[in-house]
Amino acid sequence: MKQIHHLIDGAEVAGTSARTSPVYNPATGEQTGELALADVGEVDAAVASAKAAFESWRDASLAQRTKTMFAYRDLVDRNADAIADALTAEHGKVKADALGEVARGLENIEYACGIAEMLKGDLSVQASTGVDVMSIRQPLGVVAGITPFNFPAMVPLWMIPNALATGNTFVLKPSERDPSPAMLIAELAQEAGFPPGVLNVVNGDKVAVDRLLVHPDVKAVSFVGSTPIAKYVFDTANANGKRVQALAGAKNHMIVLPDADVDLAADAAVSAAFGSAGERCMAISVAVAVGDVGDSLVSSIRQRIDKLIVGPGNDPSSEMGPLITADAQARVADYIQQGADAGARVVVDGRDRNFDGDGFFLGASLIDEVTTDMSVYRDEIFGPVLSVVRVDSYAEAVDLIRTNPWGNGAAIFTRDGGAARRFQDEADAGMIGINVPIPVPVAYHSFGGWKDSLFGDTTMYGPEGVRFYTKAKVITSRWPDPATSTVNLGFPTNS
Ligand code: NAD
Repeated sequence: MKQIHHLIDGAEVAGTSARTSPVYNPATGEQTGELALADVGEVDAAVASAKAAFESWRDASLAQRTKTMFAYRDLVDRNADAIADALTAEHGKVKADALGEVARGLENIEYACGIAEMLKGDLSVQASTGVDVMSIRQPLGVVAGITPFNFPAMVPLWMIPNALATGNTFVLKPSERDPSPAMLIAELAQEAGFPPGVLNVVNGDKVAVDRLLVHPDVKAVSFVGSTPIAKYVFDTANANGKRVQALAGAKNHMIVLPDADVDLAADAAVSAAFGSAGERCMAISVAVAVGDVGDSLVSSIRQRIDKLIVGPGNDPSSEMGPLITADAQARVADYIQQGADAGARVVVDGRDRNFDGDGFFLGASLIDEVTTDMSVYRDEIFGPVLSVVRVDSYAEAVDLIRTNPWGNGAAIFTRDGGAARRFQDEADAGMIGINVPIPVPVAYHSFGGWKDSLFGDTTMYGPEGVRFYTKAKVITSRWPDPATSTVNLGFPTNS
């Protein structure tokens, strides 16, 4: 069985805590790996390595940092297939999806290749007589990243490129459920030429996270995961004086207006609700059918679900893979029952699909006539379940988004430009899609939600990422008038 260790000070280090956690292939249900879980001493060793590396990495020239970033970009690109295979093997998502995930991560490395442009700073010459004022941004020091299972390659790459390019050093704590893609990404960083200690990986659970949140040498924490843990991470790290950005859970609504192209909306709903088995923070989990569009929308989605091929991620014909664990499979199945018990209409029941073997598969489910008091509406299910809520008007639909505690993404499908324009103004969420179901911004914009989807005030990657990983310094300087200088500069003297 594969043993998965830590990466500290540029080398793979076997765990010493004697605590381990199983890693599964979700498509077969087999345990394929054993992950070392760090104790406090191992976390401290990683932070110490990062702290020592910071002394020289912060002074590495922009030219050197850029060159290393380009080399890293090249290596990740050349190894995209291997990273995607590692991803499919431990997360379960289909290979095409896994390759898409690596591509989105790569875009963040490409963005960070332009770091010299982003760190140029500002200068006001002659702010007062003989006085110049300059603003620069400097790195923070050792920063930590704590990442979720659902994007085990992309989310670390939301953080690492900007953190390193701005001159910080990094300690990553990946999800314990699918750690291999992050390990691969970190090994490629060593190969690219980042000096030892600039990027460390400690594998672990709450013990490792809790140490990072209070460690005096960790200056900032980037977190992505569920809402309760995001809030805990934000509160704890913040109370310990750290800069924190904690991206959290979601319940994303997709409004379909009566004038929408129903085929387009149904295609979008199916790919956004069931892609990656619904284990995406930007997955659509609620379709809001406005007016009389409900019946045709539900029947179009149903037809598409009937054709959806669910199978192992490494089978090229599969369109949706398994869930991450047996627990997740049971939890999601239970939500379908709760929906039925509460009086919703289960149009397609994913529990009816039969699968060979012991993989953590569940078919896609469509639940109609859902109301806002039901648990299928209230909770983040994080699985392949799409609820349909029917309302009479656009105003009611927007109100659902406004009153929902989460605000990661929201989408509208319509042919009406005026309605779309109103929606982009009124929808209470951080990322808005207009005829786009998963509006994940590109690397040169930043990513993050509102309300219970984000704790902290800086979103991730892009310009906000650069801002998060740097602190501002303003330098005001006055030099003597050259005419009064004691050095002979060739000016006529006053005498
Ligand atoms: P999770 O909150 O269970 O775990 C995230 C990280 O926190 C992991 O590294 C885990 O080891 C650690 N952790 C878990 N429990 C902890 C505890 N009690 N104390 C300290 N650390 C703990 O999330 P997950 O199940 O891995 O990922 C799915 C969740 O992440 C969903 O809620 C999803 O919406 C969210 N997510 C959000 C975004 C976003 O951008 N907003 C992106 C991806 C995923």
